[in-house]
Amino acid sequence: MANKTEQKKESNSKMGSLFDVYSLWDIEPKKASGCWVWGADNTKYLDLYGGHAVISIGHTHPHYAKMLKNQIDNIVFYSNSVQNKLQVELSEKLGQLSGYPNYSLFLCNSGAEANENALKLASFHTGKKRIIAFKEAFHGRTSGAVAITDNPSIQAPFNTGHEVTFLPLNNIVAVEEALKEGDYAAVIIEPIQGVAGIYTAEPEFLQKLQTLCHKHNVVFIIDEVQSGYGRTGKFFAHQYANVQPDIIAMAKGMGNGFPIGGILISPKFEAKKGMLGTTFGGNHLACAAAIAVLDVIKEENLIENAVEIGAYLKEQLKDCKGIKEVRGEGLMIGIELEAQYVDLRNKLLFESHIFTGGAKNNVMRLLPPLSISKKEIDIFIEAYKKQTQQ
Ligand code: PLP
Repeated sequence: MANKTEQKKESNSKMGSLFDVYSLWDIEPKKASGCWVWGADNTKYLDLYGGHAVISIGHTHPHYAKMLKNQIDNIVFYSNSVQNKLQVELSEKLGQLSGYPNYSLFLCNSGAEANENALKLASFHTGKKRIIAFKEAFHGRTSGAVAITDNPSIQAPFNTGHEVTFLPLNNIVAVEEALKEGDYAAVIIEPIQGVAGIYTAEPEFLQKLQTLCHKHNVVFIIDEVQSGYGRTGKFFAHQYANVQPDIIAMAKGMGNGFPIGGILISPKFEAKKGMLGTTFGGNHLACAAAIAVLDVIKEENLIENAVEIGAYLKEQLKDCKGIKEVRGEGLMIGIELEAQYVDLRNKLLFESHIFTGGAKNNVMRLLPPLSISKKEIDIFIEAYKKQTQQ
């Protein structure tokens, strides 16, 4: 099996003039369906990664494919200077399914952009600019989003002028102390930290955080870019804690692979013409994709499936060795592995043909399509046991 450096070299030689910023596996997906992906050499892979939590309703779902094809035959794009009934349909269906019927929707194209717009709106609203974010958080790579991401290695000097305080997750005293200084526009938090390795913000912490935000007139922003859209067994992961953030950022699962992001905005914010804007956000094709996703989540009870299959997965993992801890909810699962199993993800991919996600060296992240079945989980468990020699 080629190691990561060899794989990278091999891929680089095939990369032509692409800017070389990604470590690539030497696999080229050509076709996909449900939870399965076929490589160019016809190898069939089980997809427990979903292209980084993006595939929500399953690859190339027939309803989704049909909606996109129909939309292409009608109109793909027009700017945000005309009526677009698809945006209205999307906001109504999203409001209903997510439990936020009275929140309004602003559409953009990615998770970073969603967070960027959330921060901007909070700053407009409060007239302030300081932000509280959490250690190990990941919020994206645009200037504001990367400034609230706790990873100096991806911040260029240009991104460093923002006033951001990073506090430890689940430490309410630290938040209380910081907020006493006043001057903050917003607190932003992932209800389950994804890139960090699946660490959950405790429900009591989120509840107290909300109370403190209200007390200090600070905007409470939840980043559901990875954890949203049914992934954790609720439409939004923060709904486990019964809180109601002021702004909710979404992206990944929203378009099942078609680029779309957005923020849900509490009625307490007043919109002003020109305050937020984008060329491509909310285009016809993106809306068709996002509407198809909501239709399928509802019709096929995918949120209930995430609860059921997530519980089944956790149960099966109890019999597996090499595990220090299993974290997360629904189908957003982190498996912290013992040190000797750091190569397990490569073995699963290259020998058992199963995609999984990673975090740090020793955390395996499982982020499969929400449509995954018990049978497909069994395939993973059998491969896991084989590769750990049980
Ligand atoms: N927020 C969270 C929680 C994420 O996990 C990510 C991406 O992994 C982002 C924001 C950024 O999303 P995007 O890559 O679509 O900009």
